[in-house]
Amino acid sequence: MIRKVIIVSIVMWLCGCMANKGESQFEELLAKAPKFEGEADCGVSNAAAFRILGNSDWQDSSEIKYFIEYQTIVDGGTEITNYFNSSDKKYIREIAAKSFARWQPHIGKPIREVSKKNDANMLLVFKLIDGIGRHAALTDFAQTGDEFDPKLKRWMVQMRFDLYDIYKVIKDRESAKYNFEFICKHEIGHGIFNLMHNEDYSIMNENKKWRDIQFDDVYAARIVYKKFENFDFDGNRYTWITKSNKNATLNFKQSELYTRCANPNYNNGHFLSTKTIAGLQYIRTHYNCPIKINSSYRHLQCNKDASGATYSSHVFANALDFRFIGPNAKKATDNYIRDVRLNGTSLQMLLNIGIRGFGSYSSGALHIDSRHIPNGGGNKKSFGIDWIWWGIFIQQNEGAFNLFDDFSKYD
Ligand SMILES: [Zn+2]
Ligand SMILES: [Zn+2]
Repeated sequence: MIRKVIIVSIVMWLCGCMANKGESQFEELLAKAPKFEGEADCGVSNAAAFRILGNSDWQDSSEIKYFIEYQTIVDGGTEITNYFNSSDKKYIREIAAKSFARWQPHIGKPIREVSKKNDANMLLVFKLIDGIGRHAALTDFAQTGDEFDPKLKRWMVQMRFDLYDIYKVIKDRESAKYNFEFICKHEIGHGIFNLMHNEDYSIMNENKKWRDIQFDDVYAARIVYKKFENFDFDGNRYTWITKSNKNATLNFKQSELYTRCANPNYNNGHFLSTKTIAGLQYIRTHYNCPIKINSSYRHLQCNKDASGATYSSHVFANALDFRFIGPNAKKATDNYIRDVRLNGTSLQMLLNIGIRGFGSYSSGALHIDSRHIPNGGGNKKSFGIDWIWWGIFIQQNEGAFNLFDDFSKYD
């Protein structure tokens, strides 16, 4: 019995020692690694490529199957293989699965890890790329529809993680400045959805401000895969609006809800929140007065041109600006403003529908949106719901239509 324990102990000690040796050897390699100026960043393997939205990829494959590979590092004749221990590898697998799952609804195909490299059509590989700094990851774009040849074997899309930079991200995972989940989600944006770096409110923005995928990412991803059906994202539901004469609701045609931007970033349409559309129809019905819409979805440049707020809900496809028109317009406007101000039943209905922002502009146009407001994040609370108001609603002095200095924060 004692002998058995001793043998088991020796075996365990040997394993433990070997595992530690992999790490310590890698740490030695890291100490003499070339260092580059600045923070390590993401690269895409074809920097000049600009993937035209609308190209479809993975069309030859009903599934995305990824394999995680840990490349053996050769350092002066020594092979380093076990730089990551089983806990590190478990973490990597979990985070990769979580990151793919976050994106998956927007391609619709199943995505799963496979245990054989030969079964994979996507490779997540840990390897040495270029030292500390410069590239932290280097990812291929997927083939576009133009490049795809059904007679040829599909190439393996590679998502490469530079061990020089990623090693610490994995080992110090509680304290790493940019964690593996953020890096993984960003790289998936390149490798599956063919998204470029951009200036949008996006995880693909190199400012790294956005650590999770954003509405802009989903919007672009869905256009790439032509997935125009309704979808849910972060508590909202979005529907595809085109410039057509089809009815969108009882009183509004699609073309009325369609963006007013001169150069929409995708010609055939855009997404818009169904909560906001439902709110607008409620207002139209309740006040029994025709409505003219002035502004809908605004892409980033369009929003800048319109001097919209930096984080305008129009950019997130959650907002509509409108005014009542026709002989009853003044009465309807007055009643609507009064109800929002004084917690009327129509305010309660609109909050229940999901409207969270109520604003007005100096032009007299009114604004509604269905932004997400975290608990206590609004400047108003009614019927237990946090919301935001600005412009005419918040003014004490009724009829003072010229003091609209705070809409820039909310828009
Ligand atoms: Zn990138
Ligand atoms: Zn607005």
